[in-house]
Amino acid sequence: MTAPRIGVLALQGDVREHAHALERSGTRALRVRREAELRGIQGIVLPGGESTVIDKLLRAFGLFEPLRAALRAGLPAYGSCAGMILLADRLADAAAGQQTLGGLDVTVRRNAFGRQVDSFEQDIRYAAWPAPVHAVFIRAPWVEQAGHDVEVLASVEREGTAYPVAVRQGALLATSFHPEVTGDLRVHEQFVEMVRERG
Ligand code: GLN
Repeated sequence: MTAPRIGVLALQGDVREHAHALERSGTRALRVRREAELRGIQGIVLPGGESTVIDKLLRAFGLFEPLRAALRAGLPAYGSCAGMILLADRLADAAAGQQTLGGLDVTVRRNAFGRQVDSFEQDIRYAAWPAPVHAVFIRAPWVEQAGHDVEVLASVEREGTAYPVAVRQGALLATSFHPEVTGDLRVHEQFVEMVRERG
């Protein structure tokens, strides 16, 4: 079986860590900075970083519309943190003028865990996986509302409410946390599996 070719949106954020995790998951990782680089990839990772900056750069690089069209056409995508924000159809706490690529029928709240608690780590449970995932959250969003077609894979509880931090809808996968920094490949492998299923 040939290794799937997976793009990593390489405008800002932790591109190298995702590329490394993808290579370790048996794929070829290709940096995507321009429209032509969208051709020939079978999936794309939208890394964490700062969603407002990535949004502006997407438009400056002429990638916003082509990438949105590719997602609409069914290109599998995995968004981590800022990448989850980019995949959300709706934002709570968006910056002025901030747009998203959309595709995931969710409302995502930016910096949801509070600006004081910038970053934290917590073990979370995926119903489908026996061992917990050690999740690293960095100024992370959460899913505040999700449509019927959205599958919640894992949540974090705050003051009695469970907020989804890993979701899937069709060919789109998103996590609030950063699996690319822990060496746990399960989330990337799950995405690679989604790419192979579609391929
Ligand atoms: N808070 C950031 C944003 O709004 C996301 C943080 C991250 O990707 N680590 O884009």
